[in-house]
Amino acid sequence: KQENVCETQVLVLPFPVQGHVNPMLQFSKRLVSKGLEVTLLTFTGNKPLAVQDGPVKLEPISDDLEADNLLVESPDAYLERFKAVVTLRLPQIIAKLGMSKSNHSVSCLIYDSVIPWALDIAKQQGLHGAAFFTQSCAVNTIFYNVHEGLLKVPLAAQSSFSIVGLPLLEEYDLPTFVYDIGAYPALTHLSVNQFLNFRKADWVLVNTFTSLEEEVLSWMGSLRSIKTIGPTIPSKYLDKRLEDDKDYGIHLFKPEIDICNNWLNSKETGSVVYVSFGSLAALGEEQMKDLALGLKGSNSYFLWVVRETEKKKLPANFLEESSEKGLVVSWSPQLEVLAHKAVGCFMTHCGWNSTLEALSLGVPMVAVPQFSDQTTNAKLVADVWQVGIRARMDDKGIITKEEIERCIREIMGGDKSKAIKWNSDKWKKLAVQAVNEGGSSDKNIDEFVAQLRCK
Ligand code: UDP
Repeated sequence: KQENVCETQVLVLPFPVQGHVNPMLQFSKRLVSKGLEVTLLTFTGNKPLAVQDGPVKLEPISDDLEADNLLVESPDAYLERFKAVVTLRLPQIIAKLGMSKSNHSVSCLIYDSVIPWALDIAKQQGLHGAAFFTQSCAVNTIFYNVHEGLLKVPLAAQSSFSIVGLPLLEEYDLPTFVYDIGAYPALTHLSVNQFLNFRKADWVLVNTFTSLEEEVLSWMGSLRSIKTIGPTIPSKYLDKRLEDDKDYGIHLFKPEIDICNNWLNSKETGSVVYVSFGSLAALGEEQMKDLALGLKGSNSYFLWVVRETEKKKLPANFLEESSEKGLVVSWSPQLEVLAHKAVGCFMTHCGWNSTLEALSLGVPMVAVPQFSDQTTNAKLVADVWQVGIRARMDDKGIITKEEIERCIREIMGGDKSKAIKWNSDKWKKLAVQAVNEGGSSDKNIDEFVAQLRCK
């Protein structure tokens, strides 16, 4: 009703790593398309890689706080600096944008769930607060169980773990931050503490969709109301009819767009293995060598993303020797690549965005999880949704070149490939259904927007 509609302004605060910025920016675009005014806080300031030509306004909060390597190398120091900067700057920005209570407008901070203290700042400034979870509900539930002491860490020595709403999990199916708490204690804390303000947030938004995680979502929904809003993938990739729509993003790395597209255009349908380990994972030198040799030995075409900082680990002469079959780039336009008809398989580290992107675009996966939530996502990909297979390590913790080759051959045409492709097409349809008009995620977004306007 018109009388209930007042000026509504939304501020979005992602944690500054690519895998958090992407879904929160895409969600911001959806909110703009529903008529809200949205400002996304950036940590890249004036750097050229932040693209600023879309309807979501960008506001720099800091120009020297990109996380990437620093987050993995010295997380404690980084997180401390991050909190200090945001605590100082966020109230200043809220005031600058005229969002505080005195202005009679309805304002909301959508904050990354890994920074639950942002809700306290929002409340002090008179804003509503919505926590945005960038990981799967399965993974969120595991961390919730740890937070509540229902799953004790360090883990007890037992062969499997039973968590309501989830299949029986072995130790290595849990997130690494749960079974290996010594490796990155600060990141274990960060993940578990997502639930500090869980009940106090006005909304909890999760980048997943109902049919994908029905049982565990229903369990979490019994604790408090949550809204699934994913996949946050732009419609033009999900629906070919919208192909000409303009898209834009914030890239923390420079994508080699034309090189990837031209190369893919020259390849036959379903003939290419796309390989990427996301923005943070760093492979050991030996693993890199086995991966390179496995790709070469698979005899498939491959498009491999090797970040600039990882290139030194490639075996000598690999690029020259494999140039007929493979293309190595330092960053790709991943959604375009996954949506390209030449791509028949995605060898992925199973970051949640990559997993959701491949699943929603119907691309079968070879799961090669590295750390964080990737192990759990790999379990779901292989055993629950059955849209891929998981590569297995040998006794030394290496996925050998033979295993890489075996997995690629299996997905590209082995015994299981037909069933996996069939499942991939099924999940793609369900993902598209969730975000299309009237789908579960679309309805939840409409409801969120309506509730915001009436607050
Ligand atoms: N991505 C990209 N180009 C690349 C590799 C990744 O655009 O070459 C994007 C990918 O589409 C995804 C994000 O970067 O949205 C990575 O997020 P994810 O959760 O998969 O992994 P993370 O980087 O957090 O480990």
